[in-house]
Amino acid sequence: MLYEGKAKKIFLTEKDDELIQYFKDDATAFNAEKRGTILKKGVVNNAISAKLFQHLADAGIPSHFIQQINDREMLTRRVKIIPVEVVVRNRATGSIVKRLGLEEGLIIDPPLIEFFYKDDSLGDPLISEDHIRLLKLATTGQIEELRQQALNINEVLKPFFQKKGMFLVDFKLEFGLWSGQIIVADEISPDTCRFWDIQTGERMDKDRFRKDLGRIEETYQEVLKRVCG
Ligand code: UDP
Repeated sequence: MLYEGKAKKIFLTEKDDELIQYFKDDATAFNAEKRGTILKKGVVNNAISAKLFQHLADAGIPSHFIQQINDREMLTRRVKIIPVEVVVRNRATGSIVKRLGLEEGLIIDPPLIEFFYKDDSLGDPLISEDHIRLLKLATTGQIEELRQQALNINEVLKPFFQKKGMFLVDFKLEFGLWSGQIIVADEISPDTCRFWDIQTGERMDKDRFRKDLGRIEETYQEVLKRVCG
Protein backbone atom coordinates (compact mmCIF):
# COMPACT_ATOMS: atom_id res chain seq x y z
CA MET A 1 0.00 0.00 0.00
CA LEU A 2 1.32 3.41 -1.00
CA TYR A 3 -1.25 5.59 0.71
CA GLU A 4 -4.52 5.38 2.64
CA GLY A 5 -6.97 8.25 2.36
CA LYS A 6 -10.43 8.82 3.82
CA ALA A 7 -12.33 6.91 1.14
CA LYS A 8 -9.66 5.02 -0.81
CA LYS A 9 -6.45 3.05 -0.53
CA ILE A 10 -3.77 3.31 -3.20
CA PHE A 11 -1.58 0.31 -4.03
CA LEU A 12 1.59 -0.01 -6.09
CA THR A 13 1.65 -2.49 -8.98
CA GLU A 14 4.50 -4.27 -10.78
CA LYS A 15 4.54 -1.33 -13.19
CA ASP A 16 6.12 1.92 -11.93
CA ASP A 17 3.61 4.05 -13.79
CA GLU A 18 0.40 2.32 -12.73
CA LEU A 19 -1.49 2.21 -9.43
CA ILE A 20 -4.54 0.45 -8.03
CA GLN A 21 -7.30 2.50 -6.38
CA TYR A 22 -9.30 0.53 -3.79
CA PHE A 23 -12.64 2.11 -2.81
CA LYS A 24 -13.61 1.81 0.88
CA ASP A 25 -17.02 2.09 2.54
CA ASP A 26 -15.72 4.72 4.99
CA ALA A 27 -17.45 8.09 4.77
CA THR A 28 -16.35 11.41 6.23
CA ALA A 29 -17.79 14.91 6.12
CA PHE A 30 -17.02 18.38 7.48
CA ASN A 31 -13.24 17.91 7.27
CA ALA A 32 -13.54 14.41 8.83
CA GLU A 33 -15.37 15.67 11.97
CA LYS A 34 -18.23 13.36 11.00
CA ARG A 35 -17.33 9.73 10.28
CA GLY A 36 -19.33 6.69 9.32
CA THR A 37 -19.75 3.76 6.99
CA ILE A 38 -21.99 3.53 3.97
CA LEU A 39 -22.47 -0.15 3.19
CA LYS A 40 -21.24 -1.06 -0.34
CA LYS A 41 -20.30 2.59 -1.05
CA GLY A 42 -16.89 1.46 -2.33
CA VAL A 43 -18.49 -0.89 -4.83
CA VAL A 44 -20.89 1.82 -6.02
CA ASN A 45 -18.24 4.55 -6.31
CA ASN A 46 -15.78 2.28 -8.14
CA ALA A 47 -18.40 1.28 -10.73
CA ILE A 48 -19.71 4.83 -11.18
CA SER A 49 -16.23 6.35 -11.44
CA ALA A 50 -15.21 3.71 -13.99
CA LYS A 51 -18.33 4.40 -16.06
CA LEU A 52 -17.84 8.18 -15.96
CA PHE A 53 -14.11 8.07 -16.75
CA GLN A 54 -14.93 5.77 -19.69
CA HIS A 55 -17.66 8.16 -20.83
CA LEU A 56 -15.18 11.06 -20.65
CA ALA A 57 -12.60 9.05 -22.64
CA ASP A 58 -15.25 8.38 -25.31
CA ALA A 59 -15.77 12.17 -25.46
CA GLY A 60 -12.01 12.71 -25.94
CA ILE A 61 -11.24 13.74 -22.34
CA PRO A 62 -8.33 11.70 -20.92
CA SER A 63 -8.15 10.66 -17.25
CA HIS A 64 -5.97 8.49 -15.04
CA PHE A 65 -8.45 5.59 -15.47
CA ILE A 66 -7.13 2.50 -17.29
CA GLN A 67 -9.65 -0.22 -16.39
CA GLN A 68 -11.83 -1.64 -13.66
CA ILE A 69 -10.21 -4.68 -12.02
CA ASN A 70 -12.95 -5.95 -9.70
CA ASP A 71 -15.87 -4.60 -7.69
CA ARG A 72 -13.73 -2.35 -5.46
CA GLU A 73 -10.58 -1.72 -7.51
CA MET A 74 -9.54 0.13 -10.64
CA LEU A 75 -6.20 0.36 -12.40
CA THR A 76 -5.00 3.93 -12.92
CA ARG A 77 -2.08 5.82 -14.39
CA ARG A 78 0.31 7.07 -11.74
CA VAL A 79 -0.01 10.85 -11.72
CA LYS A 80 1.40 13.60 -9.52
CA ILE A 81 -1.72 15.09 -7.95
CA ILE A 82 -1.98 18.89 -8.13
CA PRO A 83 -3.17 19.85 -4.61
CA VAL A 84 -6.04 21.99 -5.90
CA GLU A 85 -9.66 20.83 -5.74
CA VAL A 86 -11.56 22.22 -8.71
CA VAL A 87 -15.28 22.66 -8.00
CA VAL A 88 -17.84 23.22 -10.76
CA ARG A 89 -21.25 24.63 -9.78
CA ASN A 90 -24.45 24.59 -11.86
CA ARG A 91 -26.69 25.45 -8.90
CA ALA A 92 -25.99 27.05 -5.53
CA THR A 93 -25.89 24.78 -2.49
CA GLY A 94 -23.40 23.77 0.19
CA SER A 95 -20.47 26.03 1.02
CA ILE A 96 -21.23 28.76 -1.54
CA VAL A 97 -24.66 29.37 0.02
CA LYS A 98 -23.08 29.85 3.45
CA ARG A 99 -20.18 31.90 2.10
CA LEU A 100 -22.06 34.30 -0.21
CA GLY A 101 -25.64 34.11 1.08
CA LEU A 102 -26.97 32.89 -2.27
CA GLU A 103 -30.47 31.45 -2.48
CA GLU A 104 -30.42 27.64 -2.13
CA GLY A 105 -30.84 26.05 -5.57
CA LEU A 106 -30.13 29.24 -7.55
CA ILE A 107 -29.25 28.30 -11.14
CA ILE A 108 -25.66 29.30 -11.93
CA ASP A 109 -25.30 29.80 -15.69
CA PRO A 110 -22.64 29.98 -17.00
CA PRO A 111 -21.25 27.46 -14.51
CA LEU A 112 -18.92 28.70 -11.80
CA ILE A 113 -15.42 27.37 -11.14
CA GLU A 114 -13.90 27.55 -7.65
CA PHE A 115 -10.49 26.42 -6.44
CA PHE A 116 -9.78 24.96 -2.99
CA TYR A 117 -6.36 24.23 -1.51
CA LYS A 118 -6.19 20.49 -0.83
CA ASP A 119 -4.79 20.60 2.70
CA ASP A 120 -6.71 18.86 5.51
CA SER A 121 -4.78 20.67 8.27
CA LEU A 122 -6.05 23.99 6.86
CA GLY A 123 -9.56 22.63 6.21
CA ASP A 124 -9.29 22.85 2.39
CA PRO A 125 -9.70 26.67 2.13
CA LEU A 126 -11.11 28.46 -0.94
CA ILE A 127 -8.20 30.02 -2.85
CA SER A 128 -7.84 32.46 -5.74
CA GLU A 129 -5.70 32.04 -8.85
CA ASP A 130 -3.18 34.46 -7.28
CA HIS A 131 -3.02 32.19 -4.20
CA ILE A 132 -2.39 29.19 -6.46
CA ARG A 133 0.54 31.03 -8.05
CA LEU A 134 1.81 32.28 -4.66
CA LEU A 135 1.81 28.72 -3.28
CA LYS A 136 3.35 27.51 -6.57
CA LEU A 137 0.65 24.86 -6.93
CA ALA A 138 0.23 25.55 -10.65
CA THR A 139 1.29 28.06 -13.31
CA THR A 140 -1.02 30.55 -15.02
CA GLY A 141 -1.24 28.25 -18.05
CA GLN A 142 -1.99 25.23 -15.90
CA ILE A 143 -4.72 27.09 -13.99
CA GLU A 144 -6.38 27.97 -17.31
CA GLU A 145 -6.09 24.31 -18.32
CA LEU A 146 -7.74 23.17 -15.05
CA ARG A 147 -10.59 25.64 -15.58
CA GLN A 148 -11.13 24.62 -19.22
CA GLN A 149 -11.00 20.88 -18.54
CA ALA A 150 -13.41 21.24 -15.61
CA LEU A 151 -15.88 23.16 -17.80
CA ASN A 152 -15.51 20.59 -20.62
CA ILE A 153 -16.14 17.74 -18.17
CA ASN A 154 -19.26 19.57 -16.94
CA GLU A 155 -20.53 19.90 -20.53
CA VAL A 156 -20.14 16.13 -21.01
CA LEU A 157 -21.50 15.01 -17.64
CA LYS A 158 -24.50 17.38 -17.36
CA PRO A 159 -26.42 15.84 -20.31
CA PHE A 160 -25.28 12.34 -19.27
CA PHE A 161 -26.97 12.73 -15.87
CA GLN A 162 -29.93 14.60 -17.37
CA LYS A 163 -30.75 11.42 -19.35
CA LYS A 164 -30.68 9.48 -16.06
CA GLY A 165 -33.18 11.87 -14.49
CA MET A 166 -30.59 13.62 -12.35
CA PHE A 167 -29.49 17.26 -12.23
CA LEU A 168 -25.73 17.64 -11.80
CA VAL A 169 -25.73 20.38 -9.15
CA ASP A 170 -21.99 20.60 -8.43
CA PHE A 171 -18.89 18.43 -8.27
CA LYS A 172 -15.23 18.39 -7.27
CA LEU A 173 -12.39 17.28 -9.52
CA GLU A 174 -8.75 16.54 -8.85
CA PHE A 175 -6.15 16.66 -11.57
CA GLY A 176 -2.69 15.16 -11.92
CA LEU A 177 0.38 15.56 -14.07
CA TRP A 178 1.13 12.61 -16.34
CA SER A 179 3.88 12.71 -18.97
CA GLY A 180 3.72 16.48 -19.05
CA GLN A 181 -0.06 16.47 -19.47
CA ILE A 182 -2.78 17.51 -17.01
CA ILE A 183 -5.41 14.77 -16.70
CA VAL A 184 -8.37 14.31 -14.39
CA ALA A 185 -7.75 11.80 -11.56
CA ASP A 186 -9.17 10.62 -8.22
CA GLU A 187 -12.88 9.70 -8.52
CA ILE A 188 -16.19 11.06 -9.80
CA SER A 189 -18.97 9.62 -7.66
CA PRO A 190 -21.88 10.49 -5.34
CA ASP A 191 -19.17 11.29 -2.75
CA THR A 192 -17.73 14.06 -4.92
CA CYS A 193 -20.81 15.27 -6.84
CA ARG A 194 -24.26 16.51 -5.89
CA PHE A 195 -27.21 15.11 -7.85
CA TRP A 196 -30.83 16.18 -7.43
CA ASP A 197 -33.58 13.97 -8.82
CA ILE A 198 -35.18 15.96 -11.66
CA GLN A 199 -38.74 14.80 -10.81
CA THR A 200 -38.72 15.04 -7.02
CA GLY A 201 -35.71 17.24 -6.14
CA GLU A 202 -34.55 14.47 -3.82
CA ARG A 203 -30.85 14.56 -2.85
CA MET A 204 -29.06 11.57 -4.40
CA ASP A 205 -25.51 11.96 -3.04
CA LYS A 206 -23.36 12.28 0.08
CA ASP A 207 -25.60 15.09 1.38
CA ARG A 208 -27.82 12.24 2.67
CA PHE A 209 -24.92 11.33 4.97
CA ARG A 210 -23.79 14.90 5.71
CA LYS A 211 -27.32 16.01 6.68
CA ASP A 212 -28.67 12.70 8.08
CA LEU A 213 -31.41 12.53 5.43
CA GLY A 214 -31.75 8.73 5.75
CA ARG A 215 -31.92 6.00 3.05
CA ILE A 216 -28.21 6.51 2.33
CA GLU A 217 -27.34 2.99 1.10
CA GLU A 218 -30.54 2.75 -0.97
CA THR A 219 -29.81 6.07 -2.64
CA TYR A 220 -26.23 5.07 -3.59
CA GLN A 221 -27.69 1.84 -5.06
CA GLU A 222 -30.27 3.86 -7.01
CA VAL A 223 -27.54 6.11 -8.47
CA LEU A 224 -25.57 2.97 -9.42
CA LYS A 225 -28.64 1.52 -11.15
CA ARG A 226 -29.31 4.72 -13.09
CA VAL A 227 -25.67 5.32 -14.12
CA CYS A 228 -24.53 1.74 -14.81
CA GLY A 229 -27.76 -0.25 -15.16
N1 UDP B 1 -16.53 18.16 -2.40
C1 UDP B 1 -15.73 17.03 -2.33
N2 UDP B 1 -14.71 17.00 -1.42
C2 UDP B 1 -14.44 18.04 -0.59
C3 UDP B 1 -15.27 19.17 -0.64
C4 UDP B 1 -16.31 19.21 -1.56
O1 UDP B 1 -15.91 16.09 -3.10
O2 UDP B 1 -13.48 17.95 0.20
C5 UDP B 1 -17.62 18.22 -3.39
C6 UDP B 1 -19.00 18.15 -2.76
O3 UDP B 1 -19.47 16.82 -2.74
C7 UDP B 1 -19.83 18.99 -3.71
C8 UDP B 1 -18.85 20.04 -4.26
O4 UDP B 1 -17.55 19.47 -4.04
O5 UDP B 1 -20.30 18.19 -4.77
C9 UDP B 1 -18.94 21.38 -3.61
O6 UDP B 1 -18.84 21.25 -2.21
P1 UDP B 1 -18.99 22.53 -1.26
O7 UDP B 1 -17.89 23.49 -1.55
O8 UDP B 1 -20.38 23.03 -1.36
O9 UDP B 1 -18.66 21.98 0.19
P2 UDP B 1 -19.54 21.23 1.27
O10 UDP B 1 -20.82 21.94 1.41
O11 UDP B 1 -19.68 19.84 0.73
O12 UDP B 1 -18.66 21.29 2.47
